[in-house]
Amino acid sequence: MSFKSDIEIAQEATLQDIREIGKKLGLVEDDIELYGKYKAKVDYNLLKQGKTGKQAKLILVSAINPTPAGEGKTTTTIGTSDALSRLGNKTIVALREPSLGPVFGVKGGAAGGGYAQVVPMEDINLHFTGDFHAIGAANNLLAAMLDNHMNHGNLLGIDNRKITWRRVVDMNDRQLRNIVNGMGGKGNGIPREDGFDITVASEVMAAFCLASDIVDLKERLGNIIVAYTKDDRPITAKDLNAHGAMAALLKDALKPNLVQTLEGTPAFVHGGPFANIAHGCNSVIATKMAMHFADYVVTEAGFGADLGAEKFLDIKCRKSGLKPDAVIIVATVRALKYNGGVPKDQLSQENLEALENGLPNLLKHVENITKVFKLPAVVAINRFPLDTEAELELVRSKCKELGVNVALSEVWAKGGEGGEELAKEVLRLTEEESQLEYVYALDMPIAEKIKAIATKIYGASGVDFTPATLKEIDKLEKLGFGNLPICMAKTQYSLSDNPKLLGRPEGFNITVRQIKVSAGAGFIVALTGEVMTMPGLPKVPSAERIDVDEKGTISGLF
Ligand code: ADP
Ligand code: MG
Repeated sequence: MSFKSDIEIAQEATLQDIREIGKKLGLVEDDIELYGKYKAKVDYNLLKQGKTGKQAKLILVSAINPTPAGEGKTTTTIGTSDALSRLGNKTIVALREPSLGPVFGVKGGAAGGGYAQVVPMEDINLHFTGDFHAIGAANNLLAAMLDNHMNHGNLLGIDNRKITWRRVVDMNDRQLRNIVNGMGGKGNGIPREDGFDITVASEVMAAFCLASDIVDLKERLGNIIVAYTKDDRPITAKDLNAHGAMAALLKDALKPNLVQTLEGTPAFVHGGPFANIAHGCNSVIATKMAMHFADYVVTEAGFGADLGAEKFLDIKCRKSGLKPDAVIIVATVRALKYNGGVPKDQLSQENLEALENGLPNLLKHVENITKVFKLPAVVAINRFPLDTEAELELVRSKCKELGVNVALSEVWAKGGEGGEELAKEVLRLTEEESQLEYVYALDMPIAEKIKAIATKIYGASGVDFTPATLKEIDKLEKLGFGNLPICMAKTQYSLSDNPKLLGRPEGFNITVRQIKVSAGAGFIVALTGEVMTMPGLPKVPSAERIDVDEKGTISGLF
Protein backbone atom coordinates (compact mmCIF):
# COMPACT_ATOMS: atom_id res chain seq x y z
CA MET A 1 0.00 0.00 0.00
CA SER A 2 1.26 3.47 -0.72
CA PHE A 3 -0.20 6.64 0.71
CA LYS A 4 0.23 10.31 0.09
CA SER A 5 2.41 11.96 2.69
CA ASP A 6 0.93 14.50 5.09
CA ILE A 7 2.64 17.38 3.30
CA GLU A 8 1.42 16.19 -0.14
CA ILE A 9 -2.16 16.10 1.12
CA ALA A 10 -1.77 19.51 2.76
CA GLN A 11 -0.29 21.09 -0.38
CA GLU A 12 -3.13 19.79 -2.57
CA ALA A 13 -5.71 21.51 -0.40
CA THR A 14 -7.36 24.79 -1.40
CA LEU A 15 -7.21 27.03 1.62
CA GLN A 16 -9.84 29.62 2.43
CA ASP A 17 -8.83 33.20 3.10
CA ILE A 18 -8.39 33.43 6.86
CA ARG A 19 -10.89 36.33 6.95
CA GLU A 20 -13.53 33.89 5.70
CA ILE A 21 -12.64 31.50 8.51
CA GLY A 22 -12.93 34.42 10.93
CA LYS A 23 -16.37 35.26 9.53
CA LYS A 24 -17.60 31.79 10.45
CA LEU A 25 -16.92 32.79 14.03
CA GLY A 26 -18.56 36.17 13.71
CA LEU A 27 -15.20 37.97 13.62
CA VAL A 28 -15.07 41.12 11.55
CA GLU A 29 -11.93 42.42 9.85
CA ASP A 30 -11.10 44.69 12.74
CA ASP A 31 -11.02 41.76 15.16
CA ILE A 32 -8.24 39.89 13.42
CA GLU A 33 -4.61 40.75 12.75
CA LEU A 34 -3.49 39.20 9.49
CA TYR A 35 -0.20 37.29 9.22
CA GLY A 36 -0.38 36.73 5.47
CA LYS A 37 -3.46 35.19 3.82
CA TYR A 38 -3.94 32.10 5.90
CA LYS A 39 -2.87 32.99 9.42
CA ALA A 40 -4.15 35.61 11.82
CA LYS A 41 -3.96 36.57 15.45
CA VAL A 42 -7.10 37.31 17.39
CA ASP A 43 -7.04 39.74 20.31
CA TYR A 44 -7.93 38.09 23.61
CA ASN A 45 -9.58 41.31 24.74
CA LEU A 46 -12.56 40.11 22.68
CA LEU A 47 -13.13 37.74 25.60
CA LYS A 48 -14.38 40.73 27.55
CA GLN A 49 -17.39 41.05 25.23
CA GLY A 50 -20.23 38.79 26.38
CA LYS A 51 -20.71 35.45 24.64
CA THR A 52 -23.71 35.42 22.37
CA GLY A 53 -24.28 31.73 21.42
CA LYS A 54 -24.99 28.84 23.75
CA GLN A 55 -22.55 27.76 26.47
CA ALA A 56 -19.75 25.91 24.63
CA LYS A 57 -19.01 22.24 25.25
CA LEU A 58 -15.37 21.27 25.75
CA ILE A 59 -14.08 17.93 24.48
CA LEU A 60 -10.70 16.69 25.64
CA VAL A 61 -8.69 14.21 23.55
CA SER A 62 -6.27 11.96 25.40
CA ALA A 63 -4.88 8.47 24.83
CA ILE A 64 -3.46 5.25 26.17
CA ASN A 65 0.26 5.27 27.03
CA PRO A 66 2.19 6.31 23.95
CA THR A 67 4.19 3.68 22.08
CA PRO A 68 6.61 3.86 19.18
CA ALA A 69 3.62 2.68 17.10
CA GLY A 70 1.99 6.12 17.45
CA GLU A 71 -1.53 6.87 18.65
CA GLY A 72 -2.77 9.82 16.63
CA LYS A 73 -4.20 12.16 19.27
CA THR A 74 -3.69 15.33 17.20
CA THR A 75 -5.07 13.62 14.10
CA THR A 76 -8.14 12.47 16.05
CA THR A 77 -8.60 15.91 17.64
CA ILE A 78 -8.65 17.62 14.24
CA GLY A 79 -10.78 14.91 12.59
CA THR A 80 -13.36 15.02 15.37
CA SER A 81 -13.68 18.78 15.01
CA ASP A 82 -14.24 18.36 11.25
CA ALA A 83 -16.84 15.67 11.91
CA LEU A 84 -18.65 17.92 14.38
CA SER A 85 -18.58 20.72 11.77
CA ARG A 86 -19.97 18.37 9.12
CA LEU A 87 -22.82 17.51 11.45
CA GLY A 88 -23.74 21.19 11.51
CA ASN A 89 -22.09 22.31 14.76
CA LYS A 90 -20.11 25.50 15.22
CA THR A 91 -16.77 23.96 16.19
CA ILE A 92 -13.21 25.09 16.84
CA VAL A 93 -10.19 22.88 17.39
CA ALA A 94 -7.60 24.14 19.93
CA LEU A 95 -4.07 22.76 19.65
CA ARG A 96 -0.50 23.37 20.71
CA GLU A 97 2.04 24.98 18.40
CA PRO A 98 4.75 22.59 17.21
CA SER A 99 8.33 23.04 18.43
CA LEU A 100 11.20 23.00 15.93
CA GLY A 101 13.00 20.40 18.04
CA PRO A 102 10.72 17.45 17.19
CA VAL A 103 10.09 18.77 13.65
CA PHE A 104 13.79 18.37 12.81
CA GLY A 105 14.32 15.37 15.08
CA VAL A 106 12.44 12.07 15.15
CA LYS A 107 8.76 12.86 15.50
CA GLY A 108 8.26 15.29 12.65
CA GLY A 109 5.48 17.86 12.58
CA ALA A 110 2.56 18.19 14.93
CA ALA A 111 -0.25 19.49 12.75
CA GLY A 112 -2.19 16.21 12.47
CA GLY A 113 -1.95 13.63 9.72
CA GLY A 114 -3.61 12.22 6.60
CA TYR A 115 -6.90 13.99 5.87
CA ALA A 116 -7.11 15.44 9.37
CA GLN A 117 -4.60 18.29 9.43
CA VAL A 118 -4.40 21.97 10.22
CA VAL A 119 -2.97 24.14 7.46
CA PRO A 120 -0.77 25.78 6.26
CA MET A 121 1.11 22.85 7.83
CA GLU A 122 4.55 24.06 6.65
CA ASP A 123 4.13 27.41 8.40
CA ILE A 124 2.56 25.93 11.51
CA ASN A 125 5.47 23.50 11.84
CA LEU A 126 8.20 26.00 10.92
CA HIS A 127 8.07 28.93 13.34
CA PHE A 128 4.54 29.97 12.45
CA THR A 129 3.84 33.49 13.76
CA GLY A 130 7.02 33.67 15.84
CA ASP A 131 5.45 33.05 19.24
CA PHE A 132 8.15 30.63 20.35
CA HIS A 133 10.90 33.04 19.36
CA ALA A 134 9.19 35.72 21.47
CA ILE A 135 9.03 33.30 24.39
CA GLY A 136 12.71 32.46 23.89
CA ALA A 137 13.57 36.16 23.82
CA ALA A 138 11.66 36.82 27.06
CA ASN A 139 13.38 33.84 28.71
CA ASN A 140 16.81 34.96 27.54
CA LEU A 141 16.26 38.59 28.52
CA LEU A 142 15.75 37.37 32.08
CA ALA A 143 18.96 35.31 31.84
CA ALA A 144 20.90 38.31 30.53
CA MET A 145 19.57 40.58 33.27
CA LEU A 146 20.44 38.01 35.91
CA ASP A 147 24.05 37.65 34.80
CA ASN A 148 24.28 41.40 34.35
CA HIS A 149 23.17 41.85 37.95
CA MET A 150 25.91 39.48 39.08
CA ASN A 151 28.44 41.38 37.00
CA HIS A 152 27.49 44.75 38.49
CA GLY A 153 28.05 43.95 42.14
CA ASN A 154 25.34 41.38 42.92
CA LEU A 155 23.41 43.57 45.38
CA LEU A 156 20.82 40.82 45.87
CA GLY A 157 23.50 38.44 47.15
CA ILE A 158 22.79 35.67 44.63
CA ASP A 159 24.82 32.52 45.16
CA ASN A 160 26.69 31.86 41.91
CA ARG A 161 26.19 28.10 42.42
CA LYS A 162 22.45 28.37 43.02
CA ILE A 163 21.35 29.94 39.75
CA THR A 164 18.45 27.88 38.40
CA TRP A 165 17.49 29.96 35.37
CA ARG A 166 18.81 28.67 32.05
CA ARG A 167 18.85 30.10 28.55
CA VAL A 168 16.70 28.50 25.82
CA VAL A 169 16.62 27.93 22.08
CA ASP A 170 13.87 26.18 20.10
CA MET A 171 16.10 23.44 18.71
CA ASN A 172 17.21 19.96 19.71
CA ASP A 173 20.85 20.77 20.45
CA ARG A 174 22.59 18.51 22.96
CA GLN A 175 25.82 20.48 22.55
CA LEU A 176 24.27 23.27 24.61
CA ARG A 177 22.91 21.04 27.37
CA ASN A 178 25.86 21.77 29.68
CA ILE A 179 28.16 24.70 29.06
CA VAL A 180 30.56 27.04 30.80
CA ASN A 181 30.05 30.73 30.06
CA GLY A 182 31.19 34.14 31.25
CA MET A 183 34.77 33.30 30.29
CA GLY A 184 37.43 35.72 29.03
CA GLY A 185 38.45 37.46 32.23
CA LYS A 186 37.32 40.67 33.92
CA GLY A 187 34.80 42.63 31.90
CA ASN A 188 33.39 39.53 30.22
CA GLY A 189 31.00 38.28 32.87
CA ILE A 190 31.46 35.87 35.75
CA PRO A 191 32.36 32.31 34.74
CA ARG A 192 29.93 29.61 35.77
CA GLU A 193 28.52 26.27 34.72
CA ASP A 194 25.29 26.72 32.83
CA GLY A 195 23.19 25.14 30.11
CA PHE A 196 20.38 25.60 27.62
CA ASP A 197 16.89 24.11 27.56
CA ILE A 198 14.58 23.82 24.57
CA THR A 199 12.15 26.79 24.48
CA VAL A 200 9.08 24.64 25.09
CA ALA A 201 10.64 23.57 28.41
CA SER A 202 10.96 27.18 29.61
CA GLU A 203 8.85 28.19 32.58
CA VAL A 204 7.97 31.29 30.54
CA MET A 205 6.12 28.93 28.17
CA ALA A 206 4.19 27.30 31.03
CA ALA A 207 3.31 30.65 32.60
CA PHE A 208 2.28 31.99 29.17
CA CYS A 209 -0.06 29.05 28.64
CA LEU A 210 -1.73 29.37 32.05
CA ALA A 211 -2.09 33.16 32.04
CA SER A 212 -5.54 34.71 31.75
CA ASP A 213 -4.33 37.99 30.21
CA ILE A 214 -1.22 40.16 29.87
CA VAL A 215 -1.50 41.56 33.41
CA ASP A 216 -1.77 38.07 34.89
CA LEU A 217 1.14 36.98 32.69
CA LYS A 218 3.30 39.84 33.97
CA GLU A 219 2.50 38.84 37.56
CA ARG A 220 3.42 35.21 36.81
CA LEU A 221 6.66 36.21 35.08
CA GLY A 222 7.55 38.33 38.10
CA ASN A 223 7.12 35.31 40.39
CA ILE A 224 9.56 33.12 38.46
CA ILE A 225 12.43 32.05 40.74
CA VAL A 226 15.78 32.42 39.01
CA ALA A 227 18.28 31.75 41.80
CA TYR A 228 18.76 31.50 45.54
CA THR A 229 20.95 33.41 47.96
CA LYS A 230 23.54 31.73 50.21
CA ASP A 231 20.86 31.31 52.89
CA ASP A 232 18.37 29.89 50.35
CA ARG A 233 16.19 32.95 49.91
CA PRO A 234 14.51 32.79 46.46
CA ILE A 235 15.35 35.54 43.96
CA THR A 236 12.62 36.28 41.43
CA ALA A 237 12.31 38.01 38.08
CA LYS A 238 10.52 40.77 39.97
CA ASP A 239 13.61 41.28 42.17
CA LEU A 240 15.55 41.87 38.95
CA ASN A 241 12.82 44.16 37.54
CA ALA A 242 12.68 42.01 34.43
CA HIS A 243 9.00 41.07 34.29
CA GLY A 244 7.70 44.24 32.63
CA ALA A 245 10.04 44.02 29.67
CA MET A 246 9.48 40.25 29.42
CA ALA A 247 5.72 40.79 29.21
CA ALA A 248 6.25 43.55 26.64
CA LEU A 249 8.09 41.05 24.42
CA LEU A 250 5.09 38.70 24.69
CA LYS A 251 2.32 41.21 23.97
CA ASP A 252 1.51 39.88 20.49
CA ALA A 253 2.52 36.29 21.11
CA LEU A 254 -0.21 36.08 23.75
CA LYS A 255 -2.90 36.53 21.09
CA PRO A 256 -4.13 33.13 19.82
CA ASN A 257 -3.30 32.16 16.24
CA LEU A 258 -6.21 31.41 13.95
CA VAL A 259 -5.77 28.87 11.12
CA GLN A 260 -8.01 26.22 9.54
CA THR A 261 -8.30 22.48 9.12
CA LEU A 262 -8.23 20.88 5.66
CA GLU A 263 -12.04 21.05 5.76
CA GLY A 264 -12.23 24.69 6.81
CA THR A 265 -12.96 24.24 10.50
CA PRO A 266 -11.44 27.17 12.44
CA ALA A 267 -8.43 26.23 14.59
CA PHE A 268 -6.67 28.07 17.39
CA VAL A 269 -3.07 26.87 17.55
CA HIS A 270 -1.39 28.54 20.48
CA GLY A 271 1.34 27.84 23.04
CA GLY A 272 3.07 24.54 23.56
CA PRO A 273 4.57 23.68 26.94
CA PHE A 274 6.52 20.42 27.25
CA ALA A 275 4.31 17.67 28.62
CA ASN A 276 7.03 16.43 31.02
CA ILE A 277 8.27 19.30 33.17
CA ALA A 278 5.20 21.38 32.31
CA HIS A 279 1.54 20.62 31.74
CA GLY A 280 1.51 19.92 27.99
CA CYS A 281 -1.54 21.60 26.46
CA ASN A 282 -2.36 24.75 24.50
CA SER A 283 -2.91 28.11 26.20
CA VAL A 284 -5.81 28.77 28.55
CA ILE A 285 -6.48 31.93 26.55
CA ALA A 286 -6.88 29.99 23.28
CA THR A 287 -9.17 27.39 24.86
CA LYS A 288 -11.30 30.15 26.38
CA MET A 289 -11.36 32.09 23.12
CA ALA A 290 -12.42 28.96 21.26
CA MET A 291 -15.22 28.41 23.77
CA HIS A 292 -16.20 32.05 23.39
CA PHE A 293 -16.66 31.81 19.63
CA ALA A 294 -17.90 28.25 19.10
CA ASP A 295 -20.42 25.81 20.54
CA TYR A 296 -18.02 22.83 20.53
CA VAL A 297 -14.29 22.94 21.22
CA VAL A 298 -12.05 19.93 20.74
CA THR A 299 -8.63 20.07 22.37
CA GLU A 300 -5.68 17.73 23.01
CA ALA A 301 -3.52 17.00 26.04
CA GLY A 302 -0.01 15.58 25.49
CA PHE A 303 1.20 12.02 26.19
CA GLY A 304 -1.18 9.43 27.71
CA ALA A 305 -4.15 10.14 29.97
CA ASP A 306 -2.05 9.37 33.09
CA LEU A 307 0.10 12.44 32.41
CA GLY A 308 -1.58 14.74 29.89
CA ALA A 309 -5.22 14.41 30.93
CA GLU A 310 -4.36 14.38 34.64
CA LYS A 311 -2.43 17.64 34.32
CA PHE A 312 -5.02 19.13 32.00
CA LEU A 313 -7.69 18.49 34.63
CA ASP A 314 -5.82 19.02 37.90
CA ILE A 315 -3.77 22.02 36.74
CA LYS A 316 -5.24 23.75 33.69
CA CYS A 317 -8.94 23.18 34.39
CA ARG A 318 -8.67 23.84 38.11
CA LYS A 319 -6.76 27.10 37.57
CA SER A 320 -8.99 28.43 34.82
CA GLY A 321 -12.40 27.09 35.78
CA LEU A 322 -12.64 24.98 32.62
CA LYS A 323 -14.31 21.56 32.63
CA PRO A 324 -14.53 19.07 29.77
CA ASP A 325 -18.00 17.78 28.91
CA ALA A 326 -16.59 14.63 27.32
CA VAL A 327 -13.23 12.90 26.98
CA ILE A 328 -12.02 10.92 23.97
CA ILE A 329 -9.41 8.27 24.74
CA VAL A 330 -7.53 7.36 21.58
CA ALA A 331 -6.27 3.81 21.14
CA THR A 332 -4.88 1.99 18.16
CA VAL A 333 -4.72 -1.71 17.45
CA ARG A 334 -0.98 -1.37 16.92
CA ALA A 335 -0.34 0.39 20.22
CA LEU A 336 -2.50 -2.11 22.09
CA LYS A 337 -0.57 -5.00 20.54
CA TYR A 338 2.66 -3.28 21.58
CA ASN A 339 1.32 -3.02 25.13
CA GLY A 340 0.45 -6.71 24.83
CA GLY A 341 4.11 -7.55 24.22
CA VAL A 342 4.55 -7.45 20.41
CA PRO A 343 7.87 -5.92 19.27
CA LYS A 344 7.74 -2.81 17.12
CA ASP A 345 8.70 -4.55 13.86
CA GLN A 346 5.88 -7.13 14.09
CA LEU A 347 2.97 -4.80 14.69
CA SER A 348 1.63 -5.14 11.16
CA GLN A 349 0.66 -8.81 11.60
CA GLU A 350 -2.73 -9.73 13.03
CA ASN A 351 -2.34 -10.87 16.63
CA LEU A 352 -5.59 -11.12 18.55
CA GLU A 353 -4.01 -12.61 21.65
CA ALA A 354 -1.50 -9.77 22.08
CA LEU A 355 -4.24 -7.29 21.35
CA GLU A 356 -6.34 -8.68 24.16
CA ASN A 357 -3.31 -8.66 26.47
CA GLY A 358 -2.78 -4.98 25.77
CA LEU A 359 -6.35 -3.95 26.52
CA PRO A 360 -5.89 -3.55 30.32
CA ASN A 361 -3.77 -0.46 29.64
CA LEU A 362 -6.67 1.15 27.80
CA LEU A 363 -9.16 0.09 30.46
CA LYS A 364 -7.10 1.66 33.25
CA HIS A 365 -7.17 5.01 31.45
CA VAL A 366 -10.92 4.70 30.88
CA GLU A 367 -11.43 3.94 34.58
CA ASN A 368 -9.33 6.95 35.54
CA ILE A 369 -11.40 9.32 33.44
CA THR A 370 -14.81 7.90 34.32
CA LYS A 371 -14.32 6.74 37.93
CA VAL A 372 -11.69 9.12 39.32
CA PHE A 373 -12.40 12.33 37.40
CA LYS A 374 -16.07 11.32 36.91
CA LEU A 375 -16.21 12.50 33.30
CA PRO A 376 -18.05 10.84 30.38
CA ALA A 377 -15.59 9.09 28.05
CA VAL A 378 -15.48 7.29 24.73
CA VAL A 379 -12.69 5.17 23.31
CA ALA A 380 -11.78 6.16 19.75
CA ILE A 381 -10.17 3.35 17.80
CA ASN A 382 -7.93 5.24 15.39
CA ARG A 383 -7.88 2.96 12.38
CA PHE A 384 -4.51 2.30 10.73
CA PRO A 385 -4.33 0.89 7.17
CA LEU A 386 -3.13 -2.58 8.19
CA ASP A 387 -5.59 -3.17 11.06
CA THR A 388 -7.72 -6.23 10.35
CA GLU A 389 -11.51 -6.39 10.76
CA ALA A 390 -11.09 -9.11 13.38
CA GLU A 391 -8.76 -6.88 15.41
CA LEU A 392 -11.05 -3.86 15.22
CA GLU A 393 -14.03 -6.01 16.16
CA LEU A 394 -12.18 -7.48 19.14
CA VAL A 395 -11.46 -4.05 20.64
CA ARG A 396 -15.00 -2.93 19.99
CA SER A 397 -16.65 -6.01 21.48
CA LYS A 398 -14.37 -6.12 24.55
CA CYS A 399 -15.13 -2.47 25.29
CA LYS A 400 -18.87 -3.06 24.89
CA GLU A 401 -18.71 -6.14 27.10
CA LEU A 402 -17.22 -3.98 29.85
CA GLY A 403 -19.68 -1.17 29.37
CA VAL A 404 -17.10 1.15 27.80
CA ASN A 405 -18.32 3.50 25.05
CA VAL A 406 -16.39 2.97 21.85
CA ALA A 407 -16.36 4.30 18.28
CA LEU A 408 -14.23 3.65 15.22
CA SER A 409 -12.40 6.68 13.84
CA GLU A 410 -11.24 6.80 10.24
CA VAL A 411 -10.38 10.49 10.11
CA TRP A 412 -6.80 9.89 8.97
CA ALA A 413 -8.03 8.19 5.79
CA LYS A 414 -11.32 10.01 5.25
CA GLY A 415 -11.26 13.34 7.11
CA GLY A 416 -14.38 14.50 8.96
CA GLU A 417 -16.59 11.94 7.25
CA GLY A 418 -14.56 9.18 8.90
CA GLY A 419 -15.22 10.71 12.32
CA GLU A 420 -19.00 10.92 12.27
CA GLU A 421 -19.62 7.83 14.41
CA LEU A 422 -17.21 9.21 17.01
CA ALA A 423 -18.65 12.74 16.80
CA LYS A 424 -22.20 11.47 17.31
CA GLU A 425 -21.13 9.59 20.42
CA VAL A 426 -19.31 12.69 21.66
CA LEU A 427 -22.42 14.81 21.10
CA ARG A 428 -24.46 12.30 23.11
CA LEU A 429 -21.91 12.32 25.95
CA THR A 430 -21.75 16.09 26.18
CA GLU A 431 -25.46 16.09 27.03
CA GLU A 432 -24.82 13.95 30.13
CA GLU A 433 -24.58 15.67 33.50
CA SER A 434 -21.10 15.45 34.97
CA GLN A 435 -19.14 17.04 37.78
CA LEU A 436 -15.36 17.04 37.47
CA GLU A 437 -13.61 15.69 40.57
CA TYR A 438 -9.93 16.45 41.06
CA VAL A 439 -7.47 13.78 42.16
CA TYR A 440 -6.33 15.82 45.17
CA ALA A 441 -7.29 18.93 47.10
CA LEU A 442 -4.84 21.83 46.87
CA ASP A 443 -4.56 22.17 50.65
CA MET A 444 -3.21 18.65 51.11
CA PRO A 445 0.53 18.40 51.96
CA ILE A 446 2.73 18.14 48.83
CA ALA A 447 3.71 14.51 49.51
CA GLU A 448 0.07 13.49 49.95
CA LYS A 449 -0.90 15.10 46.66
CA ILE A 450 1.82 13.15 44.86
CA LYS A 451 0.70 9.93 46.56
CA ALA A 452 -2.89 10.57 45.48
CA ILE A 453 -1.84 10.87 41.81
CA ALA A 454 0.42 7.81 42.00
CA THR A 455 -2.08 5.49 43.68
CA LYS A 456 -5.31 6.65 42.06
CA ILE A 457 -4.09 7.34 38.52
CA TYR A 458 -0.97 5.20 38.01
CA GLY A 459 -2.20 2.29 40.12
CA ALA A 460 0.98 2.39 42.25
CA SER A 461 1.12 0.87 45.74
CA GLY A 462 3.00 3.87 47.09
CA VAL A 463 5.62 6.56 46.55
CA ASP A 464 9.26 6.57 47.66
CA PHE A 465 10.80 9.98 48.24
CA THR A 466 14.58 10.36 48.26
CA PRO A 467 15.89 12.13 51.40
CA ALA A 468 16.78 15.20 49.33
CA THR A 469 13.22 15.51 47.99
CA LEU A 470 11.77 15.30 51.50
CA LYS A 471 14.04 18.16 52.53
CA GLU A 472 13.03 20.17 49.47
CA ILE A 473 9.31 19.58 50.13
CA ASP A 474 9.79 20.84 53.66
CA LYS A 475 11.60 23.93 52.37
CA LEU A 476 8.93 24.69 49.74
CA GLU A 477 6.10 24.29 52.23
CA LYS A 478 7.89 26.69 54.60
CA LEU A 479 8.32 29.19 51.76
CA GLY A 480 4.54 29.13 51.25
CA PHE A 481 4.31 27.01 48.09
CA GLY A 482 2.46 24.12 49.76
CA ASN A 483 -0.91 24.86 48.16
CA LEU A 484 0.18 24.65 44.53
CA PRO A 485 -0.97 21.81 42.24
CA ILE A 486 1.50 19.10 41.24
CA CYS A 487 3.03 18.79 37.78
CA MET A 488 4.25 15.21 37.49
CA ALA A 489 7.28 14.45 35.34
CA LYS A 490 7.28 10.76 34.53
CA THR A 491 7.98 8.52 31.55
CA GLN A 492 5.05 8.64 29.15
CA TYR A 493 5.53 5.03 28.08
CA SER A 494 4.26 3.33 31.22
CA LEU A 495 1.71 3.93 33.93
CA SER A 496 4.68 3.40 36.27
CA ASP A 497 8.00 5.28 36.34
CA ASN A 498 9.70 2.41 34.51
CA PRO A 499 9.26 2.78 30.72
CA LYS A 500 9.54 -0.99 30.25
CA LEU A 501 6.50 -1.86 32.38
CA LEU A 502 3.81 -1.91 29.71
CA GLY A 503 0.13 -2.86 29.96
CA ARG A 504 -1.40 -2.30 33.38
CA PRO A 505 1.35 -2.84 35.97
CA GLU A 506 0.51 -3.50 39.60
CA GLY A 507 2.33 -3.70 42.93
CA PHE A 508 4.95 -1.07 42.09
CA ASN A 509 6.15 2.07 43.84
CA ILE A 510 7.23 5.19 42.03
CA THR A 511 10.30 7.11 43.18
CA VAL A 512 10.35 10.90 43.35
CA ARG A 513 13.96 11.98 42.71
CA GLN A 514 13.63 15.74 42.52
CA ILE A 515 11.15 18.40 43.54
CA LYS A 516 11.14 21.97 42.31
CA VAL A 517 8.77 24.88 42.26
CA SER A 518 7.70 26.71 39.12
CA ALA A 519 6.39 29.70 41.01
CA GLY A 520 5.53 31.68 37.88
CA ALA A 521 3.63 28.86 36.19
CA GLY A 522 2.15 28.09 39.59
CA PHE A 523 2.93 24.43 40.19
CA ILE A 524 5.31 22.08 41.96
CA VAL A 525 7.21 19.80 39.60
CA ALA A 526 7.79 16.26 40.91
CA LEU A 527 10.39 14.47 38.83
CA THR A 528 10.59 10.68 38.70
CA GLY A 529 13.72 9.61 36.85
CA GLU A 530 15.73 11.73 34.45
CA VAL A 531 13.81 14.36 32.54
CA MET A 532 15.39 15.73 29.40
CA THR A 533 14.87 19.48 29.04
CA MET A 534 17.20 19.77 26.04
CA PRO A 535 16.71 16.85 23.63
CA GLY A 536 19.30 15.85 21.02
CA LEU A 537 18.89 14.98 17.35
CA PRO A 538 18.97 11.34 16.17
CA LYS A 539 21.76 9.99 13.95
CA VAL A 540 19.75 10.86 10.83
CA PRO A 541 17.56 13.84 11.78
CA SER A 542 14.41 14.43 9.75
CA ALA A 543 15.93 17.84 8.92
CA GLU A 544 18.09 16.04 6.34
CA ARG A 545 14.99 15.33 4.24
CA ILE A 546 13.47 18.81 4.40
CA ASP A 547 14.01 21.10 1.43
CA VAL A 548 12.58 24.10 -0.40
CA ASP A 549 12.49 24.82 -4.16
CA GLU A 550 12.70 28.05 -6.18
CA LYS A 551 8.95 28.65 -5.79
CA GLY A 552 9.23 28.40 -2.03
CA THR A 553 7.49 25.02 -1.90
CA ILE A 554 8.67 22.99 1.05
CA SER A 555 9.11 19.21 0.87
CA GLY A 556 10.06 16.46 3.26
CA LEU A 557 8.06 17.66 6.27
CA PHE A 558 5.86 15.00 7.81
P1 ADP B 1 -0.02 12.22 18.66
O1 ADP B 1 -0.74 13.52 18.70
O2 ADP B 1 -0.70 11.18 19.49
O3 ADP B 1 1.43 12.32 18.94
P2 ADP B 1 -0.35 12.43 15.78
O4 ADP B 1 -1.80 12.66 15.54
O5 ADP B 1 0.57 13.58 15.70
O6 ADP B 1 -0.15 11.65 17.17
O7 ADP B 1 0.09 11.28 14.78
C1 ADP B 1 1.42 10.81 14.72
C2 ADP B 1 1.70 10.28 13.33
O8 ADP B 1 0.91 9.14 13.06
C3 ADP B 1 1.39 11.29 12.23
O9 ADP B 1 2.43 11.27 11.28
C4 ADP B 1 0.11 10.78 11.59
O10 ADP B 1 0.06 11.08 10.21
C5 ADP B 1 0.20 9.28 11.84
N1 ADP B 1 -1.13 8.69 11.99
C6 ADP B 1 -2.07 9.05 12.89
N2 ADP B 1 -3.19 8.31 12.73
C7 ADP B 1 -2.95 7.47 11.71
C8 ADP B 1 -3.71 6.43 11.06
N3 ADP B 1 -4.94 6.16 11.43
N4 ADP B 1 -3.13 5.77 10.05
C9 ADP B 1 -1.87 6.04 9.65
N5 ADP B 1 -1.09 7.00 10.22
C10 ADP B 1 -1.62 7.70 11.23
MG1 MG C 1 -0.13 15.38 19.33
